[in-house]
Amino acid sequence: MSARKNPHAVALGRLGGSVTSEAKAAAARANGALGGRPREDREVKMTPAEREAYRAAVLCVGCDRPLREAHPTIEGHLACEAAQQAAVRAELDAAHRAADERARVARRLARRRR
Ligand SMILES: [Zn+2]
Repeated sequence: MSARKNPHAVALGRLGGSVTSEAKAAAARANGALGGRPREDREVKMTPAEREAYRAAVLCVGCDRPLREAHPTIEGHLACEAAQQAAVRAELDAAHRAADERARVARRLARRRR
């Protein structure tokens, strides 16, 4: 990619990109009726050997153990991660409650000083 763009070409491209027309609107409606822009395919394509290596190496988000040993089934894996998420959420809730309490105390002290 070149570092500098021709500003005239940039302006021309911008003009073209900002064109609206009944034909363009109709095309957009037709595309929308078909479900719109396809979702980005995020699935990683792996060979079976690569998948095995991945599962042997990757650690469970919930328990930090190798996924294949810790959770031979997807159900066990999901349960472990759900438990971990619940623990994190509880920790955050406690932190928020503590912050709320500190703010309450600070407001009370500020009122008293007036
Ligand atoms: Zn786990």
